[in-house]
Amino acid sequence: MRAQENVGSADVLAGRERYVARGIATPALVVARAEGARIWDVEGREYLDFAGGIGCVNLGHRYPTVVEAIHAQVDRYLHQCFMVGNYEPYVQLCERLAGLSPCKGSEQKSILLNSGAEAIENAVKIARAATGRGAVVVFERGFHGRTLLTLSMTEKTTYKAGFGPFAPEVYRVPAPYPYRGVSSNDAIAALERLFKAEVDPRSVACAVLEPVQGEGGFIPMPPEYPGRLQDLLDAHGILFVADEVQSGVGRTGRMWAVEHYGLEPDLLVAGKSLGGGLPLASVTGRAELMDAPSPGGLGGTFGGNPVACAAALATLDALEEVLPDMPALGHRIRGRLELIAPSGSDVRGLGPMLAIELAEQTPDRASAIVTAARERGLVLLTCGLYGNVIRLHVPLTISDDDLEAGLQLLEDAIAH
Ligand code: PLP
Repeated sequence: MRAQENVGSADVLAGRERYVARGIATPALVVARAEGARIWDVEGREYLDFAGGIGCVNLGHRYPTVVEAIHAQVDRYLHQCFMVGNYEPYVQLCERLAGLSPCKGSEQKSILLNSGAEAIENAVKIARAATGRGAVVVFERGFHGRTLLTLSMTEKTTYKAGFGPFAPEVYRVPAPYPYRGVSSNDAIAALERLFKAEVDPRSVACAVLEPVQGEGGFIPMPPEYPGRLQDLLDAHGILFVADEVQSGVGRTGRMWAVEHYGLEPDLLVAGKSLGGGLPLASVTGRAELMDAPSPGGLGGTFGGNPVACAAALATLDALEEVLPDMPALGHRIRGRLELIAPSGSDVRGLGPMLAIELAEQTPDRASAIVTAARERGLVLLTCGLYGNVIRLHVPLTISDDDLEAGLQLLEDAIAH
């Protein structure tokens, strides 16, 4: 490969083919620069970005106050390891997360990690330590990460093939999916049956739910379901873990998607956009749960890196300013999707976390639309068990003109 300033897409793609493991699937896009709602490839071609690195830059690329905070922290120190010495950005961010926490209890604490999967693993560890129980309940189409425990909790053979045996004591039940005929009643009945038939609820530590399923197809839980689930879990002393790695940090127009449901989970897991583009994730909950593991029981070399914490503090500040405009943004995108969605498909989501599920349960048409969009200058992603859902991670800071241009490109790609 040539030096970066002379490089062309073909060089990078050839290098990728030769040196990078094929298990990571990537389209042919080669990024040179990104700003706000835009990406430029190495040939200088401009794209609108409705993927946001899979939901990791909810404010758009290189949000100015986030970049400033990163620069300021880079000039102080890069890495300490919180197991070697305390540092202020880590403590400040945990204080901030406590203030923003929707979880039960007055005194909130957090731990910071590197990735969503690592944070989910830690949430399960904390739930097990706090309850003295081992089993974990998860939901159909859930995605919680690619480490052994989280992959065991995740559903889709594309991610799982060849990687077993998986972790024991993970039980999966249906989640509501109105478009495909699964109601809240069905989902609650399935959980009640699980507790009768397969696992004693007294041995279940936690249930882990995405309030809006992300990789599984951008499926918001019906309004009444999370509350009903919580009542059932509470009755058995089972902790409710909200996986807000994809739905959190403003994606649904509130800081946390559970706020739309008036729900108070026991633990909340955040990731992706929390670090404003840097790797960072968190687990937050009431002190008595968070302090269940003994000193030394939790940790990690890089978790809560100071630069990522500084970026997160700036991200949360900026989001609080942006969030009041989000109902209007969500409304506008939804209205347009309803006009352009192919007949029989489902337009759904919560706030600006929106998607179109195509009626046919094969990936072909959705991936053709995503490819056609990219050829026209719009970066998009699919999701869903069958890969037939087109999801939008529109930057929450997008201008009206850019939004209109992006949605027009999507319309053209669908028409094509
Ligand atoms: N949980 C949810 C809901 C996710 O969407 C993801 C990633 O897409 C994860 C967990 C895992 O996060 P990471 O890829 O940072 O490990």
